[in-house]
Amino acid sequence: MTGTSGELRRRVRELLAEWDFTPRCDAWMSGYDPAFSQELGRRGLLAVTWPKEFGGAEGSNVDRLAVSEELLRAGAPVTAHWVGERQLGPSLLRHGTRELQEEFCPGLARAEYRFALGMSEPDAGSDLAAVRTTAVREGDGWRVNGRKIWTSGAHRATHLYLLARTSKEEDKHAGLTEFVLDMDSPGITLSPILDLRGEHHFNETVLEDVHVPGHRVIGRIGAGWQQVVGQLSFERGGPERYLSTYPLLAAVVRAGIADDIALGELRALAGRLTILRRWALETALAMDAGHTPVARAAMSKYLGNSFERDVIEWARPLLPHADRSVRALYDQAVTASPAFGLRGGAAQVMLSVIAKGRK
Ligand SMILES: Cc1cc2nc3c(=O)[nH]c(=O)nc-3n(C[C@H](O)[C@H](O)[C@H](O)COP(=O)(O)OP(=O)(O)OC[C@H]3O[C@@H](n4cnc5c(N)ncnc54)[C@H](O)[C@@H]3O)c2cc1C
Repeated sequence: MTGTSGELRRRVRELLAEWDFTPRCDAWMSGYDPAFSQELGRRGLLAVTWPKEFGGAEGSNVDRLAVSEELLRAGAPVTAHWVGERQLGPSLLRHGTRELQEEFCPGLARAEYRFALGMSEPDAGSDLAAVRTTAVREGDGWRVNGRKIWTSGAHRATHLYLLARTSKEEDKHAGLTEFVLDMDSPGITLSPILDLRGEHHFNETVLEDVHVPGHRVIGRIGAGWQQVVGQLSFERGGPERYLSTYPLLAAVVRAGIADDIALGELRALAGRLTILRRWALETALAMDAGHTPVARAAMSKYLGNSFERDVIEWARPLLPHADRSVRALYDQAVTASPAFGLRGGAAQVMLSVIAKGRK
C-alpha cells in the first residue's frame, strides 16, 4: 500500500467517527445519505483518481480502493454517489467529449449528481448485446424508445446512463451507443419494483420518444459495446463484491459470540478475504497501468459473491446469542443475498468470461 492510501484510510475513518449513521450490510445499494456523499466530496475523498481540473486528486486506483474498502467495511451510506463516481465519471474521462467532462465530472466529484444505470432490459441482463431500446437520429439529437429494468436508484437520480441501439447490425455487439439523459426529460416514466425487504431501490424505466441532445453521446456512435466492457472492470472488480456482508462479520466478532467452531471457520474466512483483497489490489494496479482487466474482475466478483454468502452461513448458528443490532445486519444480508450473484452479471456468465479470459 502506498503512503497516500494509508493517509486516505485515516481520513475516511476520521469522517466515519464523526458521522451519525447506522452501519448496514449491502450499504452501497441501500445506504442512502446525499449529505454524507457530499461531505466525502468536500473532503477530497471522491473522484480520487480524476484529474484536478475535474475535481479529482490525481491519485491511483489503489488509493481509490483504500477509500472504498474503508467505507464498505463500516457499512457507510454511500449509495448516493456510488454509481456516478465508480462508473460514469471514469467512463466520461475515458470516452467523453471535453464538453461532457466539464458538464458532469466536477459535479460528480462533489456528489451533486446521482446517476442510475440504464443497461438491463427484460431480455437483456447478462447478455447486454441483446439490448433493444432504440435511439434514432432526430435533427441534431436522438429520439429514444424502449424499456429498462432493475434501474437501481432511478427514482432518486438526476441522470440516467443509457445503453441503446443506434443501428441494426448483423453482429449484435455492433450498433450500440452510450448516452447521458436528464431524468426529468419528458417521456421518462418510472415504476417502482420492491425488493425482498419491501424497499424501493429498483425501477422499471420506460422511455417514450425521449429527446436526447446530440452532445450527450458518450464516445463513438456504435462503439457502446467496447466501451461498456471497459466500464465493467470498474463495476465488477471493486470491493463491493466481497464486502457487502462484512459489517455482519465484524459485528459478530465484536459481540464476542463466536464459539470455538465459529472461530475456526472465521480463520478460513479471513484467509479468503485476504486473497480477495489481494485480487482487488491487482485489479486496481492493472487499471492504473491502463488495462481493462475484465476476466480478473469477473473472477473477483464470482468468488467475492460466494464469500459474502458464506459470511451469512457462518453467522446463522450464532444468532440465538446475538443482540438486535447483529440480527438487523443478518436480516439485511439475507434479504440482499439473492442479488449477489446476479447484479452486475450473473454467476454463470462470470464463469464463462473467466473461462474465455475475455477482454
Ligand atoms: C440488486 C440488483 C441491482 C441491479 N441494478 C441494476 C441497475 O442499476 N441497472 C441495470 O441496468 N441493471 C441492474 N441490475 C440488473 C443486473 O445487472 C442483471 O440482473 C444481471 O445482469 C443479470 O441479468 P438478468 O436478470 O436478465 O438474468 P439473466 O442474464 O437472464 O440470467 C438468468 C439466469 O440464466 C443464466 N444465464 C444467463 N446467461 C447465461 C449464459 N450465457 N450461460 C449460462 N447461464 C446463463 C444466469 O446465470 C441466471 O441464472 C441489477 C440487478 C440486481 C439483482
